[in-house]
Amino acid sequence: MGCAPASQPARAGAGLLYHQRAAAFNWLYVPGTCFQLGRLGLSIPNSISLCYLGAGREILQEARRLLFRRLRGEIRDTRVIEAMERVPREAFVPQDAQEYSYEDFPLSIGEGQTISQPFMVALMLEALEVRRSDRILEIGTGSGYQAAILAELAKEVITVERIESLSGPARERLRAQGYGNVAVVMAGDALGWPDGGPYDGIVVAAAAPALPRTLKEQLAVGGRMVIPVGSRTSQELMKVTRTADSYSVRTLGACRFVPLIGPGAWPEERAAPS
Ligand code: SAH
Repeated sequence: MGCAPASQPARAGAGLLYHQRAAAFNWLYVPGTCFQLGRLGLSIPNSISLCYLGAGREILQEARRLLFRRLRGEIRDTRVIEAMERVPREAFVPQDAQEYSYEDFPLSIGEGQTISQPFMVALMLEALEVRRSDRILEIGTGSGYQAAILAELAKEVITVERIESLSGPARERLRAQGYGNVAVVMAGDALGWPDGGPYDGIVVAAAAPALPRTLKEQLAVGGRMVIPVGSRTSQELMKVTRTADSYSVRTLGACRFVPLIGPGAWPEERAAPS
């Protein structure tokens, strides 16, 4: 009975729901044979702690179930949804935001950057039309979450990040999750990763002021690129397809991403988070 209040939040309002999730997760992350109530200096037996652990998992599973039910209503490509279902988003979300792992919004991952909103990831990867045999370039590793989903869909993934303190932990998370077909690389002087090209798909998880020519050139003929393009505060999601002698471009809707930094994109100093 001890876990009953935390396992019934679905009937509560959203504010209360978050409060209860947070409470449940405070319990979840206390290791050991006994739960230590840090501030009170008390211990409680494992059976009770397991009950709270169960409540935390149950809440997360419920949020996950609701999220995927919504995504299935919005995204037609079931391969993308199934790939997302195989990736535990909580493994890519910082400890202090675990309870929001299956909410449909971006979350801070430090350095002014975010792990993308699940719906946006699904939309971009659907538009990318990834085939099993594809080699894909992702720009903006961030937490490594989208790279993990790409690894589920493609043969090979190269993901580029310009912030070392994000790149290292992302590489470690992807390794811990068993993804042997992802290479996490540090960004060089040029946008993307020209040495590994051409790619069947390029997905850019940060916003450019215009379509970067250097990235278009890294596409194979028939290759697709999905990229947010616009100002630093609002953009259009664009899909570029390389044809034999040109490129076709189509817009997929409004979006909002952190800035893509580098030559052919935004300068670093103007991109500081507000
Ligand atoms: N795909 C990520 C979200 C990335 S957020 C995830 O699933 O968690 C965008 C990332 O793009 C940030 O980490 C930022 O540092 C990175 N970025 C910005 N400009 C870049 C560039 N020129 N090359 C590589 N990464 C870049």
